[in-house]
Amino acid sequence: MVIGLLAGRGNVGRTTLSLALARLAAERSKVSLYEYDVVSPKLIPFFPWQAEEVKRRITDIDREKCTLAGKCLEACQFGVIKREGDSVRHRLHLCRGCGACREVCPERAIVWKEVPCGEIGRGEQGNVTLHAARLRPEEGWDGFLTRKLRETFPQQGDAVLKAPLGLSAPALRMVKESEAFVLVSTVHPHVEDEVKVFGEIVQGFGVPGAVVLNLSAEVPESVSRLCQSLGLTTFSLPRVEGLAPGRELLAEAPELRPTLEEIIAWGGGK
Ligand code: SF4
Repeated sequence: MVIGLLAGRGNVGRTTLSLALARLAAERSKVSLYEYDVVSPKLIPFFPWQAEEVKRRITDIDREKCTLAGKCLEACQFGVIKREGDSVRHRLHLCRGCGACREVCPERAIVWKEVPCGEIGRGEQGNVTLHAARLRPEEGWDGFLTRKLRETFPQQGDAVLKAPLGLSAPALRMVKESEAFVLVSTVHPHVEDEVKVFGEIVQGFGVPGAVVLNLSAEVPESVSRLCQSLGLTTFSLPRVEGLAPGRELLAEAPELRPTLEEIIAWGGGK
C-alpha cells in the first residue's frame, strides 16, 4: 500500500488525514510516513525528531573581480542576478546552483559557496516512521531539499506520502510512486474545477483516485456525479468539533475510524 495525498489548497486537513491513515495502517504492520511539504512540514511535531543540517552549493559574486560585464544576468534563466544602478544584486536564496553564470563570466568573478538550506531527519513512534525535511525560512527554492529528502529516504514498504501543496509538477514528482492518489479538499466554490484537474492527473498516472471531502457531513450531489464520471471514489469526513492543533484525528474522533479504514482498504491496505 502506497497512498499519496495531494491538495490544491492549504488548510484542508492533509496533515491530519495522512497521520491518521499512517497510524491506522500501522496497527497491522510497519508504515513509512513521508512529509514532502518541506516548506510547511506540519507532521514533524507529532514525532520525536532527529535531524541533520543540509547544505547546498550556490554561486556568489567576487565584487573585487566584477567589472559589470553583465553576462551572468543574461545566462541566469531563474532571474537571480539583477542589475541595480551601477551594481549587480545576486539574490543568493533563489540561486539554484546550476553554474551557468560562472561559465559565461569573462572575469571569473563568480565563485562557489556552500550555504545551509534546511534539515532532513526522521522520527519513529511505534510502527510509524516519519521521514521529513524542513526548509530554512529564508530559502526561496525548495527543489534541492525535496530531491535530497527522496535520495536520503527512498520509498519502501507500506507508505503514506504527503505531497507538497498544489496539483502541479513539483507535487506530483514527489508522490509519483503512489499506488493510489487521494485529493484532500473541502466543499468550496471551486471544488469541481479542482476535482477535474485531479481526475486528469489520476488518468495520466493510471492509478486509482479518491476525493476525500474534509469537514463535510456528505459529498454534494454535483461533486459525487463528477467523481463518478471521472472514475474517482469519494469519501467525506465530518468536521470534528474542538480538534485543537497538535491533536490527532483518530484519538479525538474515534467515530471516524470506519471511514478511515475504508480509505486504507480502498488504497490497497489490508
Ligand atoms: S548558479 Fe545558476 S541559478 Fe545561480 S545565479 Fe548562476 S545562473 Fe543563476
